Amino acid sequence: MKIERLTRKGILKIESYIPGKSIEEVQKEFGAKKWTKLASNENLLGPSPKAVAAIRKELPKIYLYPEGPCTVLRKALAKKFAISEKMVVISNGADNLILMIANAFVNEGEEVVMADPTFSVYTNATQIMGGKPIKVKLKDFTHDLDAMLKKVNRRTKLIFICNPNNPTGTTVSLEAFDSFLSRLSDRVIVILDEAYGDFVEDAFYPNGLDYLREKRQVIVLRTFSKVYGLAGLRIGFALGREDLIECLYQVRDPFPVHRLAQVAAVAALNDEGHAIKSIQSVYEGKRYLYKELDRLGLSYVPSQANFIFIDFEKDTAEIFQALLREGVIIRPGKVWGYPTFARVTVGRMEDNRRFIQALKKILKSG
Ligand SMILES: *Cc1c(COP(=O)(O)O)cnc(C)c1O
Repeated sequence: MKIERLTRKGILKIESYIPGKSIEEVQKEFGAKKWTKLASNENLLGPSPKAVAAIRKELPKIYLYPEGPCTVLRKALAKKFAISEKMVVISNGADNLILMIANAFVNEGEEVVMADPTFSVYTNATQIMGGKPIKVKLKDFTHDLDAMLKKVNRRTKLIFICNPNNPTGTTVSLEAFDSFLSRLSDRVIVILDEAYGDFVEDAFYPNGLDYLREKRQVIVLRTFSKVYGLAGLRIGFALGREDLIECLYQVRDPFPVHRLAQVAAVAALNDEGHAIKSIQSVYEGKRYLYKELDRLGLSYVPSQANFIFIDFEKDTAEIFQALLREGVIIRPGKVWGYPTFARVTVGRMEDNRRFIQALKKILKSG
């Protein structure tokens, strides 16, 4: 039997997610050295020490199944955001929640509107369910909400808005988003991916929580992978109207989040000091990087997130390789259709300086 006839329709045609290079991977090629990874928007300050302590304490208990719904964390999140617990669902990363959303809402042949480029997991999740991704080009590196609205028809089920957008770091304005929502049919669910929401500086940012309180057809995605520095543990959550969140519980694994992740997330949430320090470090790093990039005559998209989309004005495949030789890992823009761009995470000042020094060396010799 041909394998195509065994799988569900279209499964073999799905393009798999291409992640940033891991330290383990580049080590094989370039040997052991001190690596600075600026490829996946992790928090280079590391996790909260309180999260690490919580994991140590929990470790002897890992022979026991975790608590399925993550009750302690769920309560803590509901309290923090002043919403009902029924509006919160936790899983093993926002990535998994995106898949759960597609599982719960996308029928075969239905359409899912998203930006181009944006976070590619939206495409994968849609295609896994036999849905059709409808991609709408960014305008000035930002979601073109009017053009997205024009793509909505009877078959549209979901619209993903990555805010701030990965890889460009831009946000939609409060005014534009409100106008967009008011014109949208209630047959369509808006997914606001706020993985980088904590880093936003713009005062005119539409905070997803405000729309939940209005009981709009909106699901907000957040994660412990970015500002909270727990990417390796895999834990994220979705917030939304009770009836929408209930649908996600219908497709949820019984025990998606392990014990260590649950206790670490609670501890991280309670360590506001570490989160604030992490955000301030990103602000300081961004100012420094903007100044240095200006000096180098390189343009970039001003960012509301913990990364910067930089235009190197030539194919970044070479710059990527040259930076690897200097021990710095960035994310070349080709996967997003911007071959002269790269996305660079804002790290600690020492990381940012190392990147700039390596870049200066490369640009001088090239
Ligand atoms: C990193 C990221 C996520 C995924 O977060 P996890 O919780 O680590 O799965 C979701 N959306 C966007 C836009 C991201 O960049």
